[in-house]
Amino acid sequence: MNEARIGIDVGGTAIKLGAVHASGEIIGETQLDLGPQPKLEQALDETMRLAHGLSREIGCVGVGLPGLLDRESGTVEASPNLPWLEKRAVRDLLAVRFGLAPSKVRLENDGNVAALGELWLGAGRGNSHVLVVTLGTGIGGGLILNDMLYIGEGLAGEVGHLVLDPRGPRCGCGGSGCLEQYASASAAIRRAKLRELPAGDPGNLKRLAQLAAQGSAPERDLLEEIGCDLGHGLAQVVSLLDVRTFVIGGGFGAALEQLMPGIRRGLDEWSYGKRVEHLRILPAELGARAGWIGAARLVDLP
Ligand SMILES: [Zn+2]
Repeated sequence: MNEARIGIDVGGTAIKLGAVHASGEIIGETQLDLGPQPKLEQALDETMRLAHGLSREIGCVGVGLPGLLDRESGTVEASPNLPWLEKRAVRDLLAVRFGLAPSKVRLENDGNVAALGELWLGAGRGNSHVLVVTLGTGIGGGLILNDMLYIGEGLAGEVGHLVLDPRGPRCGCGGSGCLEQYASASAAIRRAKLRELPAGDPGNLKRLAQLAAQGSAPERDLLEEIGCDLGHGLAQVVSLLDVRTFVIGGGFGAALEQLMPGIRRGLDEWSYGKRVEHLRILPAELGARAGWIGAARLVDLP
């Protein structure tokens, strides 16, 4: 039995995919760039063709997607950023193309597959309870409990919408003062702008971290404050679940070293039981590959 697993990560501008053995040995990976208005059938045909180029023997397929899923029917309920996926039975469309039973094709939310990827072949390896936090435009989360992805009734792990201050800025989720309004890449840019620091666009976030690393006080202070807000959010996770391993990824995750003093302070201030010295805060290792690698692991979930 040496069939490959195919992992597929559907994003806004590209579909990343790869083939991997059950042992974790990666066979190959590639990507399909999407035009401005992708057609689902065409994109899936092309994805299948690329997958067969990676391996001729395919045993199962896993897909990570942004949005709300109906896992029973394998349908994307809503995907505000990728409307071409909405109300489409992605699982069955793929099962037909790959000649697999629908049970061999699994769909999962993109934050969750990234968490599975980091758990399987990345920074989370060897830990049973892990929260993977993705600092991007928003803040995504994927929760691993007892070596298994935990989705609750379907939406667990949304760490970006833990509330730090109910009187804080409005959030896209309809609430106010959510963590992602303080510690996402977009929030960091907004906060830098408010202080007239040179980080007015996403490219400059790197510069912000560089200046902080060189000891420039305004940048260092800002990243420490943002880190502290993130630490306050993580402390709530510690209080509820006693998760002690956090893997931080996403574009803004590259500033982890500069965020770290603040994260530690925030955790120390808000976590019950003084567990902060036992917490592990690790940089994600797989970068943009985490999604497809984790998607290839979906078949192992019950
Ligand atoms: Zn929110």
